Amino acid sequence: MTTITLVQGDITRQSVDAIVNAANSSLLGGGGVDGAIHRRGGPAILAECRKLRASQYGKGLATGRAVATTAGELDAQWVIHTVGPVWQGPGSDPSLLASCYRESLQVAAQLGARTVAFPAISTGVFRWPMEEAARVAVQTVRDADTTVEEVRFVLFDEGAYEAFAEQVR
Ligand code: ADP
Repeated sequence: MTTITLVQGDITRQSVDAIVNAANSSLLGGGGVDGAIHRRGGPAILAECRKLRASQYGKGLATGRAVATTAGELDAQWVIHTVGPVWQGPGSDPSLLASCYRESLQVAAQLGARTVAFPAISTGVFRWPMEEAARVAVQTVRDADTTVEEVRFVLFDEGAYEAFAEQVR
C-alpha cells in the first residue's frame, strides 16, 4: 500500500530516493521545476541527459514517458524525468498525464526507490488546470500497483496544495 503525502514547498529541497522532474522532450533543461532541479542538482544531471540524447533518446523523450538519471547534488539517488502533455483546452485527454505518473512509478520501482517526490506535472507552462491535474495525479497513484512506499506530492503554492488536499481527503 502506497502512502500519499502532501507538502507545500520546493521539490529540490526534498530528501527522497527519487525526485520526478516535469521535463520537456529535449531533456536539455527548461524553466519551472526543470530549471530548479538542474540549478540545485548541478551539471551531472544535464551531462547524463545529454548522454541519453546521444544514445537511446536521439529524438528526445516522448510525452507520457519517463527516464532516470543521477540526482547530482540533490538529496536523492535519482531524478526521474517525465514529459507531461500540454493542455489543449476543455476535453483534453488526461491519459498521457496519467501515464507520466504511472511510468515514473514503474521506473522508480525498477530502481528500488521507496520514496518518490512528484511536482504537479503539466500545471505550469503546460497550463493544465490544477484541479483536473490533481485529480489525475492522485487517482493514478492510487490505482498503481507499485512497490514504492511513499509518494510525496510537492506543491509549490497554496492553491496547488489545496487542490491536491481536496483529492486526498
Ligand atoms: P510543466 O511544463 O509540466 O507545466 P512546470 O515546471 O512549468 O512544468 O510547472 C509544473 C508545476 O511545478 C507548477 O505547478 C509550478 O508552480 C511548480 N513548480 C515550479 N517550481 C517548483 C519547485 N521548485 N518545486 C515544486 N514545484 C515547482
